[in-house]
Amino acid sequence: MDDGFDQSPSMMKADIETITSLAKRRGFVFPSAEIYGGFAAAYDYGPLGVELKRNIREQWWKSMVDERDDVVGLEAAIISNPAVWKAAGHLDAFNDPLVECLDCQARFREDHLADESPDGSCPSCPGTQGFTTPKQFNMMLSTIVGPVSDESGRAYMRPETAQGMFVNFSQVQSTMRKRLPFGIAQIGKSFRNEITVKQFIFRTREFEQMEMEFFCYPEDSDEWYEYWKTKRLDWYHSIGIRSEHLRLRAHDPEELSHYSSGTTDIEVHFPWGWGELEGIANRGNYDLTQHADHSGQKLTYFDQDRNEHIVPHVIEPAAGVDRIFLTLLLDAYDEEKVGEDTRTVLRLSPKIAPVNVAVLPLSRNEKLTPTARNVMDVLRSQFKAQYDDAQSIGRRYRRQDEIGTPLCITVDFETMEDDAVTIRNRDTMAQERVPISGLIDACKHNLEAMTVEK
Ligand code: ATP
Repeated sequence: MDDGFDQSPSMMKADIETITSLAKRRGFVFPSAEIYGGFAAAYDYGPLGVELKRNIREQWWKSMVDERDDVVGLEAAIISNPAVWKAAGHLDAFNDPLVECLDCQARFREDHLADESPDGSCPSCPGTQGFTTPKQFNMMLSTIVGPVSDESGRAYMRPETAQGMFVNFSQVQSTMRKRLPFGIAQIGKSFRNEITVKQFIFRTREFEQMEMEFFCYPEDSDEWYEYWKTKRLDWYHSIGIRSEHLRLRAHDPEELSHYSSGTTDIEVHFPWGWGELEGIANRGNYDLTQHADHSGQKLTYFDQDRNEHIVPHVIEPAAGVDRIFLTLLLDAYDEEKVGEDTRTVLRLSPKIAPVNVAVLPLSRNEKLTPTARNVMDVLRSQFKAQYDDAQSIGRRYRRQDEIGTPLCITVDFETMEDDAVTIRNRDTMAQERVPISGLIDACKHNLEAMTVEK
């Protein structure tokens, strides 16, 4: 594809194996239920992963809801009335083309085959050629709801959060007295029975989405589409992802869903090539019209000034928490030579880092521990702080660098004399002596200086 963008190899310093191993070793992400051998493409987020994920959600919510007057939140049910999926088109058309290797019977997405095996042979048993003709495979995960296990209880785990916003459009609009344009935002789990799952948490069957449906006057939709493309790309810069790792890619006309008049993906230059991080779509009035037709309810907006009922058009920025998580780790990963050693450091923005300040007493003993604990209590009221007094100070710095902690505070024997501690900066490794009385301000100042848009 020649779209005028840089097609050079990814500049990411880590490959997916390095990140998967760091994520496991340092408590970010574990293979799910590993004591039972794991479960295909299912992952459990560990203590640091939970914090990082929360920071992603919080930054998104702040930018999409808290800082605006025109967007409100929603949490809809994961398993809802199956009629939702009929109306939305997912029951009939949420399909991927599935092919099977004639030799080993492994199954693949036909549209991914060229990437997985450029010579056209089977990725599972290289050298053999030949696949069945593609079959349409529905990606909705289903379950049976209620005590009777027959088809009458068939229901679906939502494959996207978006439909919650459409079916609640009127309730949100009237209870919040919203006027056009306005948006409804939601963060939550979605499920897709993906044919192939790979690249760690890039593509899984259970994942989390952050979506916002922005309802506007039909004649303003192109302008809002442009607005949200810029706004969303800027957000990735604001959480510290380097601009050279990101690009906007407009879908070709043949890629577009039939109802969409424009879709642009924000893509990341992953180690295996460019891949989608977020999609921004101009969905027209398709969803509201479908739900109005199927439910028999009116899903319009009454414009008092114009004295007419309007079916708003919708701009949808739809992002995935897990893909952003993976992108942040890949983008922040760095290795540098320090003397004879190689230092691994995650250069995460303080907005995103799971720990902002680590308190590291030089050693664990009766003299240092009480003072270090006091310092910890002061800091935890203001920052995400972690206390660590196990192992040598060198190893503890190394660990904090690897989990992306911007500042380490060392309490040493001099602290007993001068009531001061040392602040070590993750990126420069510079050390600064600061009185405990001024520690909070010094940390704030340092963290601010490290919060740079890239
Ligand atoms: P893809 O083409 O990669 O399958 P999509 O275009 O189907 O993605 P959307 O329906 O636009 O994805 O969903 C919005 C976002 O949700 C995606 O940009 C991605 O970040 C996330 N997402 C979608 N499917 C998955 C998945 N299986 N695992 C993890 N994240 C996902």
